[in-house]
Amino acid sequence: MVAAAAERVVAELREACAAPAARLNEVAAAMEAEMRAGLREEGGSKIKMIISYVDNLPTGNEEGFFYSLDLGGTNFRVLRVQLAGKEKRVAKRESKEVSIPPHLMSGNASELFGFIASALAKVIVDEGRNDVFEDKHRELGFTFSFPVRQTSIASGTLIKWTKAFSIDDAVGEDVVAELRTAMEKHGVDMRVAALINDTVGTLAAGRYNDEDVVIGVILGTGSNAAYVEEASAIPKFEGELPKSGNMVINTEWGNFYSSCLPITEYDQALDEESLNPGEQIFEKLISGMYLGEIVRRVLLKIASQSTLFGKVNHTKLKTRFILRTPDISAMHHDETPDLRIVAEKLADNFKIKDTSLETRKMVVEICDVVTSRSARLAAAGIVGILRKIGRAVPGDERRSVVAIDGGLFEHYTEFRQCLESTLVELLGEEASRSVAVKLTKDGSGLGAALIAAAHSQYQH
Ligand code: ADP
Ligand code: MG
Repeated sequence: MVAAAAERVVAELREACAAPAARLNEVAAAMEAEMRAGLREEGGSKIKMIISYVDNLPTGNEEGFFYSLDLGGTNFRVLRVQLAGKEKRVAKRESKEVSIPPHLMSGNASELFGFIASALAKVIVDEGRNDVFEDKHRELGFTFSFPVRQTSIASGTLIKWTKAFSIDDAVGEDVVAELRTAMEKHGVDMRVAALINDTVGTLAAGRYNDEDVVIGVILGTGSNAAYVEEASAIPKFEGELPKSGNMVINTEWGNFYSSCLPITEYDQALDEESLNPGEQIFEKLISGMYLGEIVRRVLLKIASQSTLFGKVNHTKLKTRFILRTPDISAMHHDETPDLRIVAEKLADNFKIKDTSLETRKMVVEICDVVTSRSARLAAAGIVGILRKIGRAVPGDERRSVVAIDGGLFEHYTEFRQCLESTLVELLGEEASRSVAVKLTKDGSGLGAALIAAAHSQYQH
């Protein structure tokens, strides 16, 4: 028998995380209302609804060599692609991944950008082909996945850092100007054709392969979404209306908050002890950086109220972020009859040994509760966007495709299946037939190169 006290903790967790369809519909409606408020005026909502100035999404006709730089998680990537038009598409794709030394994530801006520029310089030296560029500049799309107030297609000031980054002297600065200065210092002659974030890149990469893609979502270390909006539906947009009539909006939904969100004592404590208390609440409920940490907090509570995990002083169990989302994914998918993988993860991460099968089943259930809430909330966010743009509603015949990138969606099968089934549950069988979800791997990097091509100074 699993101890009654532990059972109570799990029952309370289940209750606090409950996200039935009625509640998710409220979340979707609140998301839609926030989106409208954010489009109306700057600072009108918690989510920023950033105008990306991307008015040309790639069509497939783009040709030539383009580069991208993807910064936003623990690694950054430099990508070089050769686009060869409608038939051949991406003829060549080379990428290089560099991990960012942790001290650069909280140092100063010139060190971070200097580090990035030196990696770029190396890529150019290695390729050693100036012939293809003749007197043209190389063109680069810069994916910078933090909230930025975009001032044009290729400039924007950093609003704040999120995830594990915190470099004070970069806040309020134009990140493209910082990159350009660093590139000059390292002798890198490249034109930054576009500054985007990973959601916009994912949307663009999705669109390159399927013109029905209207939403790009990131479910990785963090979470965010971008979508195609009619420029006339953006009251705060003051520029000239683009020819296409459309603009890509980066919602920054990670900062969404509504009183209808199912929030537990564990989420509250996690938030209070985080690098950015009170901010990114939606992201903290759904993204890969946090799910393992929420589960750890529940396990710690159980250890404090029962002897299921032994009577020792649980030092490891008290260590923040020691349990990672790939760990809970592995436990959640454990199909061995005695839940051997769960036993291994408990032993490896927490030195918890000799658990009963029932205790291990309880751990799996906790993973399931936390991950299902996450996937269901992500689905509700997507439904909020679909409703905002009048998609997948009665009478709408158009196909709507959601391009999704990120390790959480890519690798966590239970998460992905739950998100997909929740979309059907919320939209209804019939309407959901016109909606497709597509994994768009490394969309953020490829998308930046594609947007650079679509905004190239040499096209047309
Ligand atoms: P980033 O978001 O940093 O650009 P990714 O899109 O690759 O990078 O996502 C990495 C995140 O995906 C990790 O922080 C982790 O939370 C999650 N993740 C990676 N592998 C798995 C896995 N096997 N199961 C569940 N989540 C995973
Ligand atoms: Mg990424």
